[in-house]
Formats: sequence, structure tokens, C-alpha cells
Amino acid sequence: MDVCSHVKVVVRVRPTNDNEKCENFRNVVQVVDNHMLIFDPKEQQMTSFGGPRVRNRDVNKRANKDLKFVFDNVFGEDSSQVDIFENTTKRILDGVLNGFNCTVFAYGATGAGKTHTMLGSSNDPGVMYRTMTELFSRMDQVKEEKIFDKSRKYLPPSYLGIKETHFINEQSGFKLSIEINLLANVGPLAVREDPSKGVVIQGLTLHQPKSAEHILEALDYGNRNRTQHPTDMNATSSRSHAVFQIYLKQQDRTASLNPNVRVAKMSLIDLAGSERASATNAKGARQREGANINRSLLALGNVINALADPKSKKAHIPYRDSKLTRLLKDSLGGNCRTVMIANISPSSKSYDDTHNTLKYANRAKEI
Ligand code: ADP
Ligand code: MG
Repeated sequence: MDVCSHVKVVVRVRPTNDNEKCENFRNVVQVVDNHMLIFDPKEQQMTSFGGPRVRNRDVNKRANKDLKFVFDNVFGEDSSQVDIFENTTKRILDGVLNGFNCTVFAYGATGAGKTHTMLGSSNDPGVMYRTMTELFSRMDQVKEEKIFDKSRKYLPPSYLGIKETHFINEQSGFKLSIEINLLANVGPLAVREDPSKGVVIQGLTLHQPKSAEHILEALDYGNRNRTQHPTDMNATSSRSHAVFQIYLKQQDRTASLNPNVRVAKMSLIDLAGSERASATNAKGARQREGANINRSLLALGNVINALADPKSKKAHIPYRDSKLTRLLKDSLGGNCRTVMIANISPSSKSYDDTHNTLKYANRAKEI
């Protein structure tokens, strides 16, 4: 695990879908190896990779930009949910168990594969479920140690609290929050900074989930209830950020004046689609909503950039510019471990979205 406060940035390319298999589109992402991809490669490089495609029929008439990008990891179309989990979140779980706040977020345009990566399906669950399963199993391991090795000085009775999953809409506040036990829509909530607990959502209590399955059900329920506007360009468009936070508290078993309490927070985030509001033909309130989403993603980008700039290490970090970044104030930068999963489509149909996502991800690397 990286110990420096570095943001690990990985890119996941999803498989081409049926819509994109039409001859008007071509593959514009060439995965070179585990660390490198070429966006819009030169023709001759594509022939051995891109599979069948029709020359000169590209409606987008793109120049071959041939841009090389290097990331901590590049996952191609064949990558599995397990590959993603093992190479991203699993590696920072030690950090959480050692009391460091960790954040994993999926960035990308609508349809690029964020929800698939973070939530997945019951047949093929994503990062959130696998993280929970792994955490439960690691806590079990600690329990056994406690039973079988009573001589150990450090015997932490761990407990895991799922505080809440919230779905942030920048304009109206927190639209839907899920308490794992209640699955209640608790309405708009306020973000508050608590001197001892850090950033909290007012009015929600801690819950102890029974199992990882239970959590997956709750997450799935929450995701189905995210704001969706079927009349839009993309019916499955996600217009809110889904933030799933896990609190892990550990303390020494031995009664002592200094119980060595360690609290860590893990935030798993399925961000709203990063496509521009203008591309959705949205009007009025919907357009404002789009602009607000873009503002929060911009704010996140600005926070990441500010953290990335060595000169601004002690300078102002603009956390307050959006609810999303306020919520993540104690989960980005400093001692926090952060993984960004940039999701992209391989098709020229999403040319601009992919280019923008790669640029955004590339800037995040510098932290
Ligand atoms: P987003 O959340 O970014 O809008 P989704 O995760 O909903 O995108 O993905 C859009 C569609 O593509 C879904 O039907 C999803 O199942 C599928 N998909 C995304 N990524 C993959 C992948 N790696 N493998 C297979 N199908 C995928
Ligand atoms: Mg989604």
C-alpha cells in the first residue's frame, strides 16, 4: 500500500455495447498494458486491436489524436469485478483498519460503467459489496485471534457502523438517504462539522448491519430510487452522487485509561454523470440541476488539483465550494487514501466524454 498521500488513479474501459457496434462508430481506446492506454490511436495501430471496423465511415470524423495516458492501473474490457476490487479498494482496506479515512470514487459520463463498478449486480457484485464482505471477514479474523491468543496485548473488539448512504443533489440538498435498517427517505439533511466526529450528516444514527448481503440489498434499493428522468437522452442517467460511508471503530479491549480508540471512515462514491449539461438538451430546472452536478464535479476537481499542487500544500483547499466536497473534507488529502476509478466507453460514440474523463483523471494523478 502506498503510504504517501497519493491518489491512486485507475481507468476501467467497459465492453462495447450493441448500440456502439454499429459501423458508424469505431473503437478509440487502445489498452496497451496494465498502465497505459492510447486514446484515439493512429489507424495502423488500431488494425491489430480494434477488430472489424469500417474505414472512413466514422461520423465523428476525428483526427487521430494518438494521446498516450499512463495511470496506476488500466483495466481493459475483459477485466472482472474481482480484478477491480483486488487492485483498488482491497489495497486500501488496511488503511481503514489502521484508522485512516479512505475514499473510492467512480468518475465518468453516464453509461460509462460507474454503477456497474461500484454496485454491480447480485450475480456480479461490485466494489461496495466486495469491500463489505472483506471488512466483515477481516473483523472475523480479529475475533478469532482474540479467542485463541489471549496473551495478545492488543485485543480490539471492532465494530462496523454503516452510517448512511446519501444521494446528493447539489441543488436541493440530500435527496434520499438510506439508513441501513430502515431504508427510509429522511428528506433533506444538513452537512455539519462536528469537532470530535468530523464531517457528519445531522440527524442520522449509526447502524450495525447484519451481513454484507443486507447491505447490498439496501444499496440496490437506494440506487433504484436515485433521481431519474426517463424522458432524457439517457434513461439511466444518474443525476445525483451516491455516497456510501462506512465507519469503523476499534478500541483496545483491555480496560485502561487510554483505550486507543481508532475511528476511520471509508467513503465509496458513485458520482453523478460527468457529461456536460449542454449535451443533455436539458431545460429550466433540469438544466440547473445539470449545472449543479457539473459544479460539484468541478469543485471535486479543484480540491484534487489544489491538493496536487506542491506549492499549495498548506494553502487554501476549496472544500466549501460544494456539498460533495464539504462532505469529503476529512476524506481527501492529508493522511487519507484515495482511489479514483475513471470509467470510460471504448467507442467513438462517447469520444468527447472519454477525452474529458481521461483529462480529469490525468490531473488527479499528481496528488
Ligand atoms: P453509469 O453508472 O456510469 O451510468 P452503468 O454502470 O449503469 O453506467 O453502465 C451502463 C451499462 O453498461 C449497464 O447496462 C452496465 O451493466 C453495462 N456495463 C458497464 N460496465 C460494464 C462492464 N465492465 N462489463 C459489462 N457490462 C458493463
Ligand atoms: Mg450509474
